[in-house]
This record gives sequence, C-alpha cells and structure tokens, in this order.
Amino acid sequence: MKTIEELLESKNIRVTAMRLLIYKFLVEKDVAVTLSDIENAFEKSDRTTLYRTIKTFEEKGIVHQIDDGTGITKYALCEKGCNCEIENDLHLHFHCNNCNETVCLTAHKIPQIKVPDGFVAENVNLVVKGICDKCSGH
Ligand SMILES: [Zn+2]
Ligand SMILES: [Zn+2]
Ligand SMILES: [Zn+2]
Repeated sequence: MKTIEELLESKNIRVTAMRLLIYKFLVEKDVAVTLSDIENAFEKSDRTTLYRTIKTFEEKGIVHQIDDGTGITKYALCEKGCNCEIENDLHLHFHCNNCNETVCLTAHKIPQIKVPDGFVAENVNLVVKGICDKCSGH
C-alpha cells in the first residue's frame, strides 16, 4: 500500500501539507464533493489555494469532475491506475434524488461511445438518477 506522499509523487505532484490534507479529506468522503464542501472543511485556508489544489489534482488524474446535473461541479477521487480515458476509465455516476449525494459506480464503465466522423469526444458524463442504497434501505 503506497503512502499518499508516494502516490502524489508518482503523479508528479509536489507534496505539500495542504495537498495531503485535501487528499485525505477526499479519501474519507465516499461521495463526490463540491468545492464549497472543501472550503467548508478547510475554513481557515485560502480559497484560491484550495481551488488550485483541486485543479492540480484534476490535471494530474487524481480526481475527476462530475457534472451530475445539479449545476454544481463535483469532484471524486480516481481509482488506482485511472487515466481518465474515455474508453477505459469513465464510469457511471449515481445521483440520489433523496439525499442529493453523487457517487462513483466504478464497476460500471461507460459503454463504448461512437461519435460521427469529424467529431472528437473529450468527455462523457453519464449520470443515473434515483434513490441510493442508503436511502432505499437495502
Ligand atoms: Zn481518473
Ligand atoms: Zn440517498
Ligand atoms: Zn467517478
């Protein structure tokens, strides 16, 4: 099991105390978080630093963005070995209409998406909406 430091370094991210804290925060949450969730958790920190940290994580493939249709961008940790590639790594997301949480369904990959010639797919967002397992009581 790699330490967080090693994991960040393997992605060419310079390890800072702030980056470690935010990474740990994301690990502890098992749902996708918004930038304001992070800001609320790190009230004393500079918002720009928090924003830059999450952007760095996104660029380096530590987290991926989720657009769950609520109008607020959410972020979740990538799986080990994820390169955020459309063909291999993108998975379904589930948005619960009851508790409003969004989770990664990493075992459910997005089926191959074919676009017409001349179109270039850069990102695919597939969000299933409904009631999550916690809310459905199963
Ligand atoms: Zn990823
Ligand atoms: Zn729910
Ligand atoms: Zn995800």
